[in-house]
Amino acid sequence: MRPTLIIANWKLNGNWSFNEDYASAFSNGLKDVDLTGRQIVICPPSIYLQQLNGLILHQEIYFGGQDLSDEISGAFTGEVSGVMLKEFGCRYVLVGHSERRLRHQESNEIVVKKASNAISAGLIPVICVGETLEQRQAQQMQEVLSTQVDAILQGLGERVEHIVLAYEPIWAIGTGQTASAEQAQEVHGWLRETIGKTSHRMAENLPMIYGGSVKSDNAAQLLEMPDIDGLLVGGSSLIVSEFLSICQAGKVM
Ligand code: PEP
Repeated sequence: MRPTLIIANWKLNGNWSFNEDYASAFSNGLKDVDLTGRQIVICPPSIYLQQLNGLILHQEIYFGGQDLSDEISGAFTGEVSGVMLKEFGCRYVLVGHSERRLRHQESNEIVVKKASNAISAGLIPVICVGETLEQRQAQQMQEVLSTQVDAILQGLGERVEHIVLAYEPIWAIGTGQTASAEQAQEVHGWLRETIGKTSHRMAENLPMIYGGSVKSDNAAQLLEMPDIDGLLVGGSSLIVSEFLSICQAGKVM
């Protein structure tokens, strides 16, 4: 049984006092939330991991980094390694988010190197894949996703068992334009089938989550889909009431 995973990507948001208020309201709200069978992951800017880790103390709440270095250590100014994230209480780390692929020119090769470093450090990489609107409209979606997924399968081999795959159509990130639950399921189903050609067992066990303008009012429909095992949430994760609703979306209360 694949677990349900809800991941908050705070991106470049938060500050010391926002985090204190958020942690207090979120912890309070969690008292009324049944998280059985769910794991919630918060990915704040890495500098705030220690603060939040000390404030949100709940068995089902985990922490993640938003990125890690493709290097292990040395003269790489500004970088944070997987081992460092692990030391600061992370269980997960986002890898290859489109904002990094596009703004920082992260190639598939770098993404795989980062994912590999994450696994070696004992972290679970949440590897993001997705197509732009232009690529979708030009019927290139499958080609783009295949290239991204092939790089992961070839680069990680058996270690794909230790990853989470996040399908994030770039046109749906931060735009308010969500893929419908059916559209997302279609891609997730196709991705699982494609990965199944390499290993049926690997494909069946692989947690696959959707990201792109998820809100409390579409979370439940997305989670109902058979190949959607969780959600990666950007903007809505910064609003405590919204994120709490997403955390319990689809649960019979
Ligand atoms: C994201 O950044 O991964 C994301 C899905 O953002 P948003 O929910 O704001 O679209």
